[in-house]
Amino acid sequence: MGDLKQVTLENSSTSGFATTKLDALLNWARKWSLFKYPFVTACCGMEFMALTSPRFDGSARFGAEAPRFSPRQSDLLWVVGTISQRQAPVLRRIYEQMMEPKWVLAFGTCASCGGFYDNYTTVPGIDKIIPCDVYVPGCPPRPEAVLDGLMLLQDKITRGDRTPGIVKPREDPS
Ligand code: SF4
Repeated sequence: MGDLKQVTLENSSTSGFATTKLDALLNWARKWSLFKYPFVTACCGMEFMALTSPRFDGSARFGAEAPRFSPRQSDLLWVVGTISQRQAPVLRRIYEQMMEPKWVLAFGTCASCGGFYDNYTTVPGIDKIIPCDVYVPGCPPRPEAVLDGLMLLQDKITRGDRTPGIVKPREDPS
């Protein structure tokens, strides 16, 4: 099996060749071809739209342009907004229907920890239901913060790191 971890790439333009690990090659391809499933429930959705607009171009240049509205065709679940207790089983089911490997990004404070909805109807963070790879705090988070989260996720995919990461808020540029 050890040999299967190696792949040799013939380089036709030179007489040399490059050797790399198959896992590293796969992770490089994965981080530049993320297919997102947007699970949008609340006001953070407005900022999600801003993120994907031409001004911020938060999708295409990261290889994450195409949304998929079937969890079976997605590998990155964006949880955008407040999650109520009644939505929790739906979110869990969507996560379970996604193929491995898959990643989860919590967009905003509500998705990360429940936000200011400290009541019995609100899930106090999606990690009470599903694993989460990257938390992006903010109410709502600025698109730049979400881009930081996306790049953090790409870095984690490169390293095969599944420990959760938190994006630190940037200074307000205004
Ligand atoms: Fe709305 Fe703020 Fe919660 Fe986002 S974090 S869903 S903007 S209340």
